[in-house]
Amino acid sequence: MRTKISKESSLNTHIVSILFLIFFLLLSISPEKKNNQLAIPKNVILLIGDGMSYSQITATEYFHGSLNMTSMPYHGTISTHSLNRRVTDSAAAATAIATSHKTRNGMVAILPDGTHLQTIAQYALEMGKSTALLASSHITHATPAAFAVHHKKRGEYFNIAELFVNSDINMILGAGSDYFLPESDGGKRKDGKNLITEMKEQGYFYINIDKNIEQISEHEKVIAFIEPMNLKPYPERADQMIRLTNSALLRLSQNPEGFFFMIEGSQIDWAGHDRNADWMIQEMIDFDNVIGSVLEFAEKDGNTLVVVTSDHETGGLTLPAGRFGNSDEFRYKFSTRRHTAQQVPLFSYGPSAELFTGSFDNTDIARKLFSLWGKQIEEPDSIGMELHQSIKK
Ligand SMILES: [Zn+2]
Repeated sequence: MRTKISKESSLNTHIVSILFLIFFLLLSISPEKKNNQLAIPKNVILLIGDGMSYSQITATEYFHGSLNMTSMPYHGTISTHSLNRRVTDSAAAATAIATSHKTRNGMVAILPDGTHLQTIAQYALEMGKSTALLASSHITHATPAAFAVHHKKRGEYFNIAELFVNSDINMILGAGSDYFLPESDGGKRKDGKNLITEMKEQGYFYINIDKNIEQISEHEKVIAFIEPMNLKPYPERADQMIRLTNSALLRLSQNPEGFFFMIEGSQIDWAGHDRNADWMIQEMIDFDNVIGSVLEFAEKDGNTLVVVTSDHETGGLTLPAGRFGNSDEFRYKFSTRRHTAQQVPLFSYGPSAELFTGSFDNTDIARKLFSLWGKQIEEPDSIGMELHQSIKK
């Protein structure tokens, strides 16, 4: 009896050993280990279509033909709620995308308790990379601001402009000189401060006319404000976004450490607020042309990760069949003038683009980017704690 038991136990020990071996073999090929083998992109270009979701893409493709963004090899879907609202605003969403932390609507890269959240652009600077921000709105608007500065009230544009002065962002591109110049110099500041002069003293080169856009590539630190407030709506602004993008890329790609570049198609959102489908489609076309240009650069470069996403949907756009059921037309039906809680798409291309597939949260975008560049940010216990409390009520 004893011997038998001993034999059985010996056999069991063998089985257990083999199972352990298999377990450890499996562990050794688990995703954590795989992470070590991920291709690390030297450069990251993040493009945000403000207010863009599936309906905006569908409408533009049916109207205009296939888009560059939908040709990108990887696709994910992201949730957009903020810390305290199921329907986010651009400040909280941009904070999530830039820092991997949820905050309350209206707050720019800052927690409700005042904690400043490091942004992926600031981390890139810390790594010795160059940084650039480009938007078709003024640069102090919520989305670009959330990559560069920390402030509790997104609407305080004059204060945000002052914070830009010491942001160290290499290229500040698009529009918005009104918030940087005093009234005496043609701006809108009432405190008499000339922030452009202050920034020139720090070594920034200033461009404020269209024909000088190409000069961007000649300077390490540039402010390019082609319009005093916002760029003109597309197609009035012609190819300014592409020219700003290409000139910036020419310079950014000279840094051997690499770069981070955020580009926002800001006015897709404004067209949605305005329930203006024609304007929305024009803005989508321009945003996608910029994506085309960026993808061309990334293909040639081979070391650039391109991520295209959105902060939220605007307008509650749906595309129901036309009035006559058998016609091939659809209507544009905006259900609101505000943002919606709808999930938004993400498209990616380049080294480790496959990390951005599946269904995830907007905070995961920055978490993945930080992690690729060697900084781990813990997932919070609960994403949007205040939100979950409000659901319980
Ligand atoms: Zn909006």
